Amino acid sequence: MKVAKFGGTSLADAAQIRKVCDIVLADPQRRLIVVSAPGKRSKTDTKVTDLLIALAEKHLAAGAADKELAAVVGRYAEIARNLGLGGAIADRIAADLRARLATDTSHRAHFIDTLKAAGEDNSAKLVAEYLQSTGTDAHYISPKDAGLLLSHEFGNAQVLPESYENLRRALAGAPGITIFPGFFGYSPEGAVVTFPRGGSDITGSILAAAVKAEVYENFTDVDSVFVANPNMVAGPRALTELTYREMRELSYAGFSVFHEEALAPVFRAGVPVCIKNTNNPSAPGTKITLERFCPAGQIAGIASDNGFCSIYVGKYLMNREIGFGRRLLQVLEDEGLSYEHSPSGIDDISVILREKHFTAAKETRVIERIRTELAAEEVTVERGLALVMIVGECMRHVVGIAARATAAFARAGVNLEMINQGSSEVSMMFGVKAADEKKAVQALYQEFFGAGK
Ligand code: ASP
Repeated sequence: MKVAKFGGTSLADAAQIRKVCDIVLADPQRRLIVVSAPGKRSKTDTKVTDLLIALAEKHLAAGAADKELAAVVGRYAEIARNLGLGGAIADRIAADLRARLATDTSHRAHFIDTLKAAGEDNSAKLVAEYLQSTGTDAHYISPKDAGLLLSHEFGNAQVLPESYENLRRALAGAPGITIFPGFFGYSPEGAVVTFPRGGSDITGSILAAAVKAEVYENFTDVDSVFVANPNMVAGPRALTELTYREMRELSYAGFSVFHEEALAPVFRAGVPVCIKNTNNPSAPGTKITLERFCPAGQIAGIASDNGFCSIYVGKYLMNREIGFGRRLLQVLEDEGLSYEHSPSGIDDISVILREKHFTAAKETRVIERIRTELAAEEVTVERGLALVMIVGECMRHVVGIAARATAAFARAGVNLEMINQGSSEVSMMFGVKAADEKKAVQALYQEFFGAGK
């Protein structure tokens, strides 16, 4: 069977849901369908998940949130009406939301997750009901009944290993078409828990791995993954094929087409992924597999993300000091900080962090400890960095890629703060000032994908 996941813009209104159902019915192999909550209908619209968060927060703050509740119910009621479904389903959705609002509010994160999960849950019920109204054998299934168990981390849950066997048993032989809500599951304690934002991709991947699907189709609103962010480069080339590793590196550094945590389950199970467009399903999309053929030296894509900072630590004879790196990272661990990269030299080391986690209070404590406990001579923090990456399996063992990239930066007048080649040689990373991010991406695009390349 195929697992097909549809993102928020594919569920945003009745016309989009009709497209989803046409796609599902066009291929009898598409028997396990994962849906997001209704997303934006236009650039300025609000996703139902954001409406639900606003509803939960207002209810927590004021004890009532009639306007916010009406906004969520209104979205579903309009969709149901335009699908010709009658009022009963909208009433059930309103009752479901009221029941969620009546649950215990003493644990804030738990309460918010309970509300957030309503977006996907009701979306799945609505799609199942619409398919049934067309005479299709379709069923909604609750992640609880299917056994999707997640860690007890609100808004940041991870799948527990026993889920795979539970899901295989519940879903592999299920009759007709199963509609499964994305984004949430249940902790072993029975609490609703959600994945990080955009996490319906993760649900789809887990399901595809559990049932050993022939392919995991991820339907979104673009024809394919592009070699660079279309907001930075005008009309970038499309990517028809990628390896899991390339996709992982690209989605880490800002490619938002596919959630960065969503690849692991399908990768381990060897299930290929195909990213496709709900609005243009006949386009071939982008395939993600274990291996692909590409000419030596070809770059798969250019990614970038900002919001990073670096801690630079210098100490004479650092290379002779056993345990220096461990003690440095221990300081970060004590502050609950995870680090992203750590380029190093003989007498210096930098640690790159996500800026949002490195608060001013943490910065003061970390600098003080590195100065006193590690006796470092120089400790400086630089904020406002962007990481720009070139990614490609076929860069491996090819001479001169870094030279081409740095020459392109030099021509564009972009100052490099840092260079780091991943140990796998699948990616090369450049640290630049966030203000130079776009210029840097454009310079690389010109060099590797410009006219005549
Ligand atoms: N609806 C959730 C979000 O907006 C999850 C998803 O769409 O994948 O983050």
